[in-house]
Amino acid sequence: MGACLHPTPEMGPFSVEARRESFYLNAASAVLLITAKGEEPRCQWRIADTHAAALVAALDQVMAHPSFAEHDHDPEDGHQVRRRDGWLDVDGVGYPYQDPEYAAVELEYRHVRALRAALLNVSDSEPKWLHWIDDPLVDRARHRLQAHRLQATTGQLATDEQGSSYLPTSGTCGCGDKWAGKGWDPVAYGYAQHMLGVQRQAHDELAPA
Ligand SMILES: [Zn+2]
Repeated sequence: MGACLHPTPEMGPFSVEARRESFYLNAASAVLLITAKGEEPRCQWRIADTHAAALVAALDQVMAHPSFAEHDHDPEDGHQVRRRDGWLDVDGVGYPYQDPEYAAVELEYRHVRALRAALLNVSDSEPKWLHWIDDPLVDRARHRLQAHRLQATTGQLATDEQGSSYLPTSGTCGCGDKWAGKGWDPVAYGYAQHMLGVQRQAHDELAPA
């Protein structure tokens, strides 16, 4: 069993589950696209290059985790990153998982440093927009994530189709949008997607008709 870390705002659509030897990089399957499953443990995946900074932030969270320090003694270069047509294509070492909603790649701690360096290396040009966090057109005061709630405080567990218990969570944006689901992730994804929509709308309103 791993530990799902609370995503930082800079991680945008990504989240991390830390395990002993490795971690899962998680995102919606529309964000993290598994493009090929090579001979294990090779696999290829891609993200939009506008998500490069968010992915780097996710790797920063991994590097701050105690398990990373335990396995950083023998860092290895296992990844190639190419930028083309608005995408960053990653060819590397990892175990992919994908269903209609979510995707994940299980990566080893010893590959993180080199992957992070490779991402920074190819994504040096300016993204079209700033990350919504830094975008002056985004009204962050109006769209604060509020009332994010783990029902742990009430001790109420829900039960899924398999009969396992889980903590239901819910989140509400300051503008009134709401998300609910199982564990932290649906709220984090919901909020990240919502904020990308808010940013898009703010730019569309300024665009010449
Ligand atoms: Zn909002």
